[in-house]
Amino acid sequence: MSAGGSQNSGSSSVFAGNCHCGAFKFTVKLTNLNHISSCNCSLCSRNAYLWAHPASNSDLTVLLGEGSLKSYQYGTSVHKFCPVCGTSILCKTDKEISVNVRSLTDVDVESLSAVVTPCGITVEPSQLQFAMDSPPGDLHATCHCGGITYTLHMTPAATKSCNCSICSRNGVLWAYPLTKDVTVRAQTSLVEYTFGRKQIVHGFCGTCSVPVWEYFLNPAKAHTMGINVRAIADFEFARLPTRVHNGKATPPQYQA
Ligand SMILES: [Zn+2]
Ligand SMILES: [Zn+2]
Ligand SMILES: [Zn+2]
Repeated sequence: MSAGGSQNSGSSSVFAGNCHCGAFKFTVKLTNLNHISSCNCSLCSRNAYLWAHPASNSDLTVLLGEGSLKSYQYGTSVHKFCPVCGTSILCKTDKEISVNVRSLTDVDVESLSAVVTPCGITVEPSQLQFAMDSPPGDLHATCHCGGITYTLHMTPAATKSCNCSICSRNGVLWAYPLTKDVTVRAQTSLVEYTFGRKQIVHGFCGTCSVPVWEYFLNPAKAHTMGINVRAIADFEFARLPTRVHNGKATPPQYQA
């Protein structure tokens, strides 16, 4: 694990974190980054959340952007994310606060192993049920709140994960269908975010934060697009081969 930017303080360390666009910055004191959890509920799995659990709510200090995060309530949990770039920062219940390790600066999330632990959500929202009015073989994808839904007229044969600043924060697992094989059914809550050379447009849900797709402004790449396979309903993407892309090594160097 690389934990650059952390400062030792007894048995715990203080980690810096930020959303991708840098509008929200914080520090959090964590006793052990080896005890993180993931969850396979419909919301956590779509965002590939990796939860760390500060001992106390006061272990989180907001440095910039107090009050700027948007809330999405699901069950008894309130998830907080940046409405500009979509980075999910934390989850609050009446008992505790959990911090999304993906939002920590300079933590190599690929090197961490998380224990699957239910986040406490047991009821799945009804909008994830689809009216299956399209040909067999089509796959249906949705953000969590149902504001963005799309149909894939193909089945991904492989996925790509990437450790760049945006993909690692969003926890996206990519497949690249032809643009013509994707039918967007609803995108009322779509927010688009670009950065750096502004050649890739990242789409996420402005209501529930789920990253849904990316498309390319370069005409040479516009025939294809990236879709987040985690958003596909009832699709066992984990059995597909995954290519790991070292996007972090591609300049320019990310700075929040
Ligand atoms: Zn942001
Ligand atoms: Zn969950
Ligand atoms: Zn949504």
